[in-house]
Amino acid sequence: MSVVSPSASEDTPYRSDEAYARERDANDALRGFRDRFYLPPDRIYMDGNSLGPLSREAEASVLAALADWKAHAIEGWTADERPWFWIGEELGALQADLVGAEPEEVVTTGGITTNLHQLLATFYRPAGRRTRIVADELDFPSDIYALQSQLQLHGLDPAEHLVLVRSRDGRTIDEADVVAAMTDEVALVWLPSVLYRSGQLLDLERLTREAHARGILAGFDLAHSAGSVPHHLHDWSVDFGVWCTYKYLNAGPGAVGALYVHRDRFGAAPGLAGWWGCDKARQFEMSHAFTPAASAGAWQISTPSVLGAAALYGSLRVIGEAGLEALRQKSLDLTGYLMFLADDLLAPLDFAVGTPREPARRGGHVALEHAEAIRISRALRALGVVPDFRPPNVIRLAPVALYTTYAEVWQTVVALREIVATGAHLQFGAGLESVT
Ligand SMILES: *Cc1c(COP(=O)(O)O)cnc(C)c1O
Repeated sequence: MSVVSPSASEDTPYRSDEAYARERDANDALRGFRDRFYLPPDRIYMDGNSLGPLSREAEASVLAALADWKAHAIEGWTADERPWFWIGEELGALQADLVGAEPEEVVTTGGITTNLHQLLATFYRPAGRRTRIVADELDFPSDIYALQSQLQLHGLDPAEHLVLVRSRDGRTIDEADVVAAMTDEVALVWLPSVLYRSGQLLDLERLTREAHARGILAGFDLAHSAGSVPHHLHDWSVDFGVWCTYKYLNAGPGAVGALYVHRDRFGAAPGLAGWWGCDKARQFEMSHAFTPAASAGAWQISTPSVLGAAALYGSLRVIGEAGLEALRQKSLDLTGYLMFLADDLLAPLDFAVGTPREPARRGGHVALEHAEAIRISRALRALGVVPDFRPPNVIRLAPVALYTTYAEVWQTVVALREIVATGAHLQFGAGLESVT
């Protein structure tokens, strides 16, 4: 890698020389957390927004779950210490602070898409003129599939009843355009907190307030903000939400997800009932009359995956120790630094930053756009940096506050510059096969 000369600027705290990155790492109050993680050797891991790495704490809690199974078998459900019977509620309560919810408003269960189905089956109640659902045209496909199929279950044509707010720039969604779409034909608004491609953070408080002022329910997919961006779901009166735990929450591939329902919505009959949503005191009466729990627990369906949730105990402890506010501050600093370096070193090579600049409008990752993004991301991987690629032209990089160093951000940008300056990416294919 070549040496980059310092570039002085008056309106940025950053510099583009390597020594600056080393200084920042030496003075980073959170630097010790990196040692808690198993990071892929000889790699710079910039993909923690897709799959968080394993921490020693998470590993220990998975091993503890195995030991409980070994020692107790069926009695693990009722063991004195940490009975599995309550695992969904317990791990829900442990996540509540991360999203600004009350402990009973969160339960660990299912996955993003299954939980979204459950919440739509419960709260999407088309009536009279109010039949439409508002989402956005940049949304993650699985959310759209769920919305379409729920409309179809009601006999409604998604082409007419699913309103996708358009993006003005292909990257972001303007909250004013969402508000403009909130007509009296709309029953429900479903949006991401952070757009998966550009990393734009939406104003959930404003959108919820505007929706409620028009008699519309507001729900959010927090996949790209849970564990990365603090929220105040309860105080903002957000009606419901879902997230996964395998991205910034580092609970492992396919780990059990979470859902949130505002206390004011408790009592609504779950659209998809199952015995695990029963009032716990009555679950083993085995009655055919369903008595839902008086908490978010009511929206559980099946026996929880104890092994699939176990890592959360450890991974949440690490996040709790660092503190979400401190992690958010460092994350904003790392992404700000990455965008600064991109402007300084990559813009001349036809890269553009697709992520909003304002701290209040961005999540934990940065979208670098380039016409040759897929080839460049493959070349980057070959050099030992793990990014991800999202069509058509986005390289997503997530410097994660718990374990990414400033030096790694610097090395990543220098590697990108090297690749494009030398044309190293041109030897890689541009096909879409097995993209991660
Ligand atoms: C990661 C992600 C998903 C994945 O859904 P699963 O049901 O957990 O597989 C869905 N929506 C968004 C916005 C995501 O970022």
